[in-house]
Amino acid sequence: MFQMFGFGGVKCPRCAHKSDDQSGYCKHCGLTLGAPRSEPVLRDNRWVPGDDELAVYFGVSALTGIFTKTLRVPATTRAYILQADKATEVPQGEYEIEGFFTRLNHLLRNQNAEILITRSAALPVEFSFDDLHTAEHLKVSARFTVAIKIENVAAFARHFMTVPGVVSIGAPAGGGIRGQPLDARHGRQRRPARATGRTPAERPETAPGLLRPGGGAGGNGRAAPR
Ligand SMILES: [Zn+2]
Repeated sequence: MFQMFGFGGVKCPRCAHKSDDQSGYCKHCGLTLGAPRSEPVLRDNRWVPGDDELAVYFGVSALTGIFTKTLRVPATTRAYILQADKATEVPQGEYEIEGFFTRLNHLLRNQNAEILITRSAALPVEFSFDDLHTAEHLKVSARFTVAIKIENVAAFARHFMTVPGVVSIGAPAGGGIRGQPLDARHGRQRRPARATGRTPAERPETAPGLLRPGGGAGGNGRAAPR
């Protein structure tokens, strides 16, 4: 799915309507174009990240646009609505539109909003090194797990939520690490800014202060053998 800007339109992952890329939102249902494909989140309206996903985020042109059907926020999820520089957590539960806006009555129903869906529990990320080189020619391997959780929603939003996307446990990396570092993917094609350096979203493990290891494990996502 390589979709160049301005060529042939972008298909909405929620309603499959094909929009041109002018407004940034699906003309039919109001979802941000380029939102990550997610059946439970977008089609079932059950806000739960996938097994390997730390976060899913997208936007809507008007906040009422999240009510395509009953909204379900399970206990395993922490969900936030970002509107006017403020993050509001949506408590666990099932919501119909009127009950939702009665309970969270400071939210502006006709204004655009971004939605961040993450997890109640930390996401374990495993690293394994099967063949470490040592001066003594010993056969050494190592394994460890880092548990990662979003603690600072505002900072996460600032660094990652510039385009809709998902942060998940990515494909095995090169460089001798047969681990599964976190990977930020975006439904929309990445910004063509490679020549000017990597965007923060491409290196989530180095963004300061966003992700704090949980479960007592130390270190950050970038593994280095000692
Ligand atoms: Zn749509």
